[in-house]
Amino acid sequence: MNEKRVLLLLAIAVPPPALDALGPVVAEHTVETPWGRIGPMAERASGDGPAFLVQPYFGLPTRLDPRATVWAARQLGIQRLIGWDAGVALSRYLHRGDTVIVDDYIDHVHHQPTTLFEEWGIGGIEQVPAFCPQIREALRKALPHAIDGGVYLAVDGPRRESRAEARLYRAWGGDVIGQNLVPEVALAKELGLCYAGLVTVVDRAADLPPDDEGGTLRDALRTVLEALPKVAWELVGELSCRCQQAGAGASERRPLVE
Ligand SMILES: [Zn+2]
Repeated sequence: MNEKRVLLLLAIAVPPPALDALGPVVAEHTVETPWGRIGPMAERASGDGPAFLVQPYFGLPTRLDPRATVWAARQLGIQRLIGWDAGVALSRYLHRGDTVIVDDYIDHVHHQPTTLFEEWGIGGIEQVPAFCPQIREALRKALPHAIDGGVYLAVDGPRRESRAEARLYRAWGGDVIGQNLVPEVALAKELGLCYAGLVTVVDRAADLPPDDEGGTLRDALRTVLEALPKVAWELVGELSCRCQQAGAGASERRPLVE
């Protein structure tokens, strides 16, 4: 395996010119899936280096079907996905502009699909480790100032949390609230794909004192974008994780389409 492409699910608003940090657009991809069309996704790369396919996840009238998203990655032969989300800090130690390489999640989503397939065998897919260790390692190397580890509390949105919910989610062990990494992380596992989550804090929870709005967020977004090509270079080569094993047999299963 020597796949040099990574699918970036971009759920945080970045100025479009800033995406040039990933290289110029070299191709566009549209994929038909059992749950609708995905794309066009821009493929960005510098020279013969690794490429990012960029699927915007923000600014859409409706949330993209997460099943279609992960299915499209497989259709394109892409093994690795990075979800980059805008998060709300539950932890008192997290502030606007901080970036967290999350390492676990709590699924408090109620209105999204939970599986790709009509039937599974006995038992379910383990969620340990929750996010791909190999991509997390590459993110750690490329983003030395990012916070390594944190629990992602996934909600439907689009509304914000109430103060009582913020207290509850913190008591559950959540560090950041977000709306775009779940169920993608679990669906990717059904296909044996590698999925990692990156969360940049854009605000603090309803029961915490807010941070000043300033340039820190813009600087944080640029830092991540400039680091992503290094992440992709770190990932060129053999898989050292076991993510593929989780999806063994997936190709024989029938997709669940209502
Ligand atoms: Zn992996």
